[in-house]
Amino acid sequence: MPLDIIAFDADDTLWVNEPHYTAALEKLCTLLAPFADADHVRQALTEADIHNLQFYGYGIKAYTLTMLETASRIANAQLTGEIVDAILAEGKRMFAEPIVVYDHVIETLQQLSRRKPLMLITRGELFEQENRIQRSGLTKYFNYIEIVKTKSVEVYRQVLDKYAIEPPRFVMIGNSLKSDILPVVALGGRAVYIPIDNPWQHDIVKNPDWTSFDRLDHIGLLPDLLEAYLDEA
Ligand SMILES: [Mg+2]
Repeated sequence: MPLDIIAFDADDTLWVNEPHYTAALEKLCTLLAPFADADHVRQALTEADIHNLQFYGYGIKAYTLTMLETASRIANAQLTGEIVDAILAEGKRMFAEPIVVYDHVIETLQQLSRRKPLMLITRGELFEQENRIQRSGLTKYFNYIEIVKTKSVEVYRQVLDKYAIEPPRFVMIGNSLKSDILPVVALGGRAVYIPIDNPWQHDIVKNPDWTSFDRLDHIGLLPDLLEAYLDEA
């Protein structure tokens, strides 16, 4: 069945994202070294990060608050203004990081956008994600951009309904099994998983049904994979 729309995740699919979070975590470990060893800080932050999703959602602002919370728990009364300032500066550094688009992304988007409408579906906070999309220079390849609070089956269903797309005519490409791949497969859509090294803990899924979606080593292989589905209906 031909495709109506090709949809892409953004963070860690089109550009580098997760390493900025890992770098911030390492910085926090250094700041809190007088009070706890690095493994303890990493574990405390990762747990608080996932717990806080229900309050703060996703993104840098949420992560900054969670770093402050973790610092407060670990340093207690010894938490200084200097440490708080350093954590806030780390959050701002993350905002200012240049957007590094992965290899093969531009050629792939150029090629596919000539054949089918492309959609960007990214999760996170509106201000932050709009800013990042705009700075990526990739906006021109996308017919549609959807910034969603979370990526559940229900949210994908709403997006498909909004554009009147039948699931088998929709494909989602992304780095997260939990957010980009499995919910789309559950709806009857197609999905292409392009993993990154050292994924976010929250994105890890054990024992998925590997036969229900495609997997590629890099995005440059996508046009060949989809070729048979790109012709007009
Ligand atoms: Mg992603």
